[in-house]
Amino acid sequence: MKVSVCSSRPILSPCGLKDIKYQVDPYVGCEHYCYYCYALAQAETDWSKEILIYNDIVDQLSKEIDKIPPQTIYMGYQTDPYQPCEEEYRQTRKVLELFKKYDFSASILTKSDLVVRDIEILKEMNDASISVSVAFNDNQTRRLFESKTIDTEKRIEALNTLKKAGVRTGALLCPIIPYITDTIQMIDMLESYADIIWIYGLSINDRSGQNWLKIQKILSSHNPDLIEQIEPVIFSKDHSYWSELREHLEILRKDRKLNLHIHI
Ligand code: SF4
Repeated sequence: MKVSVCSSRPILSPCGLKDIKYQVDPYVGCEHYCYYCYALAQAETDWSKEILIYNDIVDQLSKEIDKIPPQTIYMGYQTDPYQPCEEEYRQTRKVLELFKKYDFSASILTKSDLVVRDIEILKEMNDASISVSVAFNDNQTRRLFESKTIDTEKRIEALNTLKKAGVRTGALLCPIIPYITDTIQMIDMLESYADIIWIYGLSINDRSGQNWLKIQKILSSHNPDLIEQIEPVIFSKDHSYWSELREHLEILRKDRKLNLHIHI
């Protein structure tokens, strides 16, 4: 993976999430390169070959956060803060150290267990929260859609470690791919380790866009019969697949008293 320095730009940017005003993405680009990633269409580089880092993330970000009061900053909105190169480049670690020094906190979303490396910093922050994003029950299927991520079980194990250490945890069950993701089984796997679970379905609007073309290509070579089943569901939010799943999840939420946020 080629890692280059990006052109000058702000690091701190407004965040559209409820209760969080700002976000930081320590990397520009994401080498996880999930085929369904909505951000791929606007990518500045080919993420399978090159991602970008800031010239001096600590120097620049310290000047930017100096203008705002201490608060929780979101990480993981556009790119994964714990993508593989973080092991060597430690941009996320540097950001967390800076946040801790100035009494900021972090809410992080990742597909990696590398986050456990930073557990001591996270524990000392005021109310840090870590969520993992998962969508595949079996890793053979996962590798087809997101070949550079780690096994689902390892992500859940990371949540377990974080939860035991007293860090708030969450899981983003996303994207639910109809007839591929077993949502209920996934909740069974997650419920003991995630304090909150958000659920989102795969939604694609453009039949000629890269996301659908790539998914079609994967399905044609591994499970061509599924294309006919999946296509009408992901292009229609009103499809009965979604309403039946929603109903099932509502019952589960009530029966098991789960903190489920259903967005399908
Ligand atoms: S980990 Fe997230 S940001 Fe990175 S490629 Fe996958 S979906 Fe996109």
